[in-house]
Amino acid sequence: MDFSLPPRVAEAVGKIRALFESDVLPLEAEMLRKRSFKAMLPELGAAREKVKAAGLWAPHLSAEWGGMGLGLTEHARISEELGRSPLGHYLFGCQAPDAGNMELLSHYGSPEQKAKWLAPLAAGTVRSCFSMTEPDLPGSNPTWLGTTAARDGDDYVINGRKWFTTGADGAAFAIVMAVTSPEAPPHLRASQIIVPTDTPGFELVRNISVMGEPGEDWASHAEIAYDDCRVPVTNLLGAENAGFFLAQERLGPGRIHHAMRWIGIAERAFEMLCTRAAGRAMSPGKQLGDKQIVQAWVAESRAEIDAARLYVMHTAWRIEQEGQQEARDAVSAIKFFTAGVLTRVLDRAVQAHGALGLTDDTILAWFWRHERAAHIYDGADEVHKISLAKRILQRHGLKGAR
Ligand SMILES: Cc1cc2nc3c(=O)[nH]c(=O)nc-3n(C[C@H](O)[C@H](O)[C@H](O)COP(=O)(O)OP(=O)(O)OC[C@H]3O[C@@H](n4cnc5c(N)ncnc54)[C@H](O)[C@@H]3O)c2cc1C
Repeated sequence: MDFSLPPRVAEAVGKIRALFESDVLPLEAEMLRKRSFKAMLPELGAAREKVKAAGLWAPHLSAEWGGMGLGLTEHARISEELGRSPLGHYLFGCQAPDAGNMELLSHYGSPEQKAKWLAPLAAGTVRSCFSMTEPDLPGSNPTWLGTTAARDGDDYVINGRKWFTTGADGAAFAIVMAVTSPEAPPHLRASQIIVPTDTPGFELVRNISVMGEPGEDWASHAEIAYDDCRVPVTNLLGAENAGFFLAQERLGPGRIHHAMRWIGIAERAFEMLCTRAAGRAMSPGKQLGDKQIVQAWVAESRAEIDAARLYVMHTAWRIEQEGQQEARDAVSAIKFFTAGVLTRVLDRAVQAHGALGLTDDTILAWFWRHERAAHIYDGADEVHKISLAKRILQRHGLKGAR
């Protein structure tokens, strides 16, 4: 078994580290000083140009669309590196939800959709969003949606309300999940439809304040009303009623990207935990790291992060070798397992910093506010635990597991 990095990935990691020192971390410090994301767009744009010039733009995307053309396991390692800063994925052109939308469009978009939507998205000249979750129905049951897209001549007319549409503020278009065949079996009811955000009837009601942050531009989560929002049927992505299938397709690779990003965050928090433990004098000649309870945090965090990384990388390898279906137990398990490692390590790092850990003088509080969500989005942990356990128990003969 060869655990070494492919040369092109090792080279990219080295270049990414250099760009983090020169550009990403200074911009992150600026962000923590509470400059608004919108106000920072010119500097962020300039840093993106440097990334492009270094040949590191859109690692997940094929060379045809200006990306690095990395495979899933290769991009997984890059995603860890970029995850070390909240700005990493954005600056390197592979941020959620755009990365998933690019993958959907490149696999299922018509030639016209690719030219109109994928090309500018891949170039980073526009952003997009993915609008599926609704305020009044459980996101954990994605087959139960209230938003409808009724066929009227050559158009769909979309009505409904969505929320937690990440990055809708300033996006050029949304990919909206809406019911097109209400009488069909649950998994065949909905379609994914491209809706330009300047379409009459598309209303960004508000950016939802999350953990005390109002949010703006890419760093936001919006509530959106679709009110007789009319788009041509040519905006349908993939086949009609294939929305759920497309959402599943997006899930496996997206899970790997997220989980490795979480590992990047955990690794950075771990380094901060260790630096603090080694450097914080608690009494003359005694450091925080001399306390056995802190030594246990360090040892447990090291083991947990390394275990999570191996698990996620192995899952990525299995998706590449065997396909998403064969790997689906692992795809479920890495979700809750890695989210748990992330929040445990973050919590230990915050705790070791004492009051400082709660301030915006370090990145820890920012990560804490934003990454608690890891247990909720991309399928709540409980949903993944239940479906994994059911599949395992069914293989052991449990009948009718619900
Ligand atoms: C930061 C963030 C970004 C997001 N971005 C997007 C986006 O870009 N686009 C989008 O469409 N959505 C997005 N979402 C929404 C996300 O997909 C949903 O929040 C998620 O699917 C959970 O749905 P819900 O919030 O409606 O919770 P519910 O489905 O109401 O579930 C509430 C809780 O119930 C428990 N639960 C649920 N099902 C079960 C079960 N079967 N058994 C036991 N317990 C269960 C879980 O603990 C869960 O947290 C985002 C969410 C967050 C937090």
